[in-house]
Amino acid sequence: VPSPEQSAADHIAPHALAAQPRLEARFRNRPLLVFLDYDGTLCPIVSRPEDAQLAPSMREALAHLAARHRVGVVSGRSLADLRARVGLSDLWYAGNHGFEWTMPPSPTVHREAGEAHLAALAAVAAQLGTALAGIRGVILEDKRYSLSIHYRLVAAGEVDTVIGAVHAAAAGRPELRVRGGKCVVEVLPSIDWHKGRAVRRLVEAAALPGAVPIFIGDDVTDEDAFRELSGDGVGVLVSAEPRPTDAGYRLRDVGEVERFLRWLASLAGGIRA
Ligand SMILES: [Mg+2]
Repeated sequence: VPSPEQSAADHIAPHALAAQPRLEARFRNRPLLVFLDYDGTLCPIVSRPEDAQLAPSMREALAHLAARHRVGVVSGRSLADLRARVGLSDLWYAGNHGFEWTMPPSPTVHREAGEAHLAALAAVAAQLGTALAGIRGVILEDKRYSLSIHYRLVAAGEVDTVIGAVHAAAAGRPELRVRGGKCVVEVLPSIDWHKGRAVRRLVEAAALPGAVPIFIGDDVTDEDAFRELSGDGVGVLVSAEPRPTDAGYRLRDVGEVERFLRWLASLAGGIRA
């Protein structure tokens, strides 16, 4: 288990399924707050983001776990898209990297960004619609609270053009910032806000004494959540190859995530909040 001071560069996470005895000792008879990323964690990464479907067996594993523990999905996707894809009414959801979130059974949708951010994002989306129109394979996803520009299907020689256009469109707009991910460039409100803060807020909202927060994710943006939980929780990186991370543990792929969720659901204890 990494200490908060330990940097990602000197930690290679051990396999979570191999570490079950140690984890079971930590989780036994405690309520769990299990937060998961969506793309690359609950379902495999696909060429077109709209094709990323949750497998029925994974949905069943989530529902089974949610009957015992609090389960939340935290994604860069819009809240509405995320809820529709997962399709489970009693999970908590944070969309747009946590800029919008909801905690059923309360119907309230909370939002972090302001009108100035939304106006700037809309302007950049319009500008990019024109600037990227001639580039084959680029997907501009306008999620209102953030923009995702996917270039997985763009020819290698044109990727720099896409990234350059995004930076150019956001330049001179102090309300916004640009960030890279897996074959994606994102434009976000320049608020000091990320998945780690989103997860911490959900942990605080759960208000479960003795609960162990867990975050499972595959992308660089998930490192914020791993760092946030490195003191009181457990981070699990989904990655086929070991790589430097602030997560304490690793799972190789989506199939192993499902096995891990089923194992969590089988542990003694768990109080449904
Ligand atoms: Mg992901």
